[in-house]
Amino acid sequence: LASKLPQVGTTIFTVMSSLAAELGAVNLGQGFPDFPMSDELVSLVSKAMREGHNQYAHMSGVAALREVLAAKIADLYGAIVSPDTQITITPGGTYAIYTALTTVLQPGDEVIVFEPAYDSYIPNIVINGAVPVRIDLHFPDYRIDWDRVRQKITPRTRMIMLNSPHNPTGAILRPEDMQQLRSIVEGTKIFIHSDEVYEHLIFDGIPHQSILRYPDLLERAFVSFSFGKVYHCTGWKLGYSVSSPTLMQEFRKVHQFNCFSCHTPSQVGLAEFLRDKTSYLSLGAFLQQKRDYFEKLMAGTKFTPLPSYGSYFQLYKYDRISDEPDKDFAIRITKEYGVASIPVSAFYQSGKDHRVVRFCFAKKQETLEKAAERLQKIK
Ligand code: PMP
Ligand code: GLN
Repeated sequence: LASKLPQVGTTIFTVMSSLAAELGAVNLGQGFPDFPMSDELVSLVSKAMREGHNQYAHMSGVAALREVLAAKIADLYGAIVSPDTQITITPGGTYAIYTALTTVLQPGDEVIVFEPAYDSYIPNIVINGAVPVRIDLHFPDYRIDWDRVRQKITPRTRMIMLNSPHNPTGAILRPEDMQQLRSIVEGTKIFIHSDEVYEHLIFDGIPHQSILRYPDLLERAFVSFSFGKVYHCTGWKLGYSVSSPTLMQEFRKVHQFNCFSCHTPSQVGLAEFLRDKTSYLSLGAFLQQKRDYFEKLMAGTKFTPLPSYGSYFQLYKYDRISDEPDKDFAIRITKEYGVASIPVSAFYQSGKDHRVVRFCFAKKQETLEKAAERLQKIK
């Protein structure tokens, strides 16, 4: 077989989660909560099943869910998007990203992607015959150097990929970033992919800079979201994509012959659940408390935190412990101290290593305490 992805191995999330499971380590690696999801949402989905919502949903998603999402988007970002023509429910955020890229990319197109990058982006570009044009985020604040972006644009640039709040760094886009982006794409045919799966997981009262706030950007953008990530049910693999009517029409052509439609009862339950705004407005404060608690516990270790403004991750430097490469360090700490993390070099195609690891703080208090207690033993 001639591999279509010869450079790709097994994702770091599977590697570290398997190691953690094998060794019985506390898993602060792969990003998933270990606390229960909303009992009310579970009840609403069970009710939907019992009431017989068990057949294929509409190809673009259950109408009531798309309607409640359009209302939420209007409320939070002041954007009027049509539930009929601009929102499609997908089996997860990862699928929404893949479908968006497949919808627009032609062989030889160039895609600007910032590293560290969520690990599905570059394989998604490559499998479509397009070319990733990688730009490093500025270390250690992980800001975008927009002058560098300007230098990298060519007549073949087809897309710019953004992610805020950012995985793995917890960095966020600011209004000035959006202005830079607007000035760069204006008058071009460049598309934008904006990964906003951590939309509500943003801290310290800072507003999320969604592409949906900017009609001139939305016109050329796909925005990907994940219910799994924000509602503590990553195993559901349910998300959605928002775009312009023209782009969404093309997106649905790809989607309808890939999975066609998604799990119906979850959509019916979510449609009901999302009517209450506190279901999402409370999420930032809830995760912020966990970030702060974990950071307090970690103050008793030799790790040094970098700021996390959103997502459910925080990066930690370990230069006061060792100068090992981050993969060796993460594996050794899992084996010797029983705490799994994610080495950040896995998010760079070049394997660039700033000697930082990512911890997921979306965990029960006792899990964070157990992890910190073990990490305190590292001298
Ligand atoms: N993008 C980013 C940045 C993520 O961290 C995740 C989380 N897995 C996803 C997309 C995918 O979300 P989902 O699990 O809904 O596919
Ligand atoms: N997004 C999750 C993380 O960054 C993992 C998702 C996955 O395993 N594909 O940890």
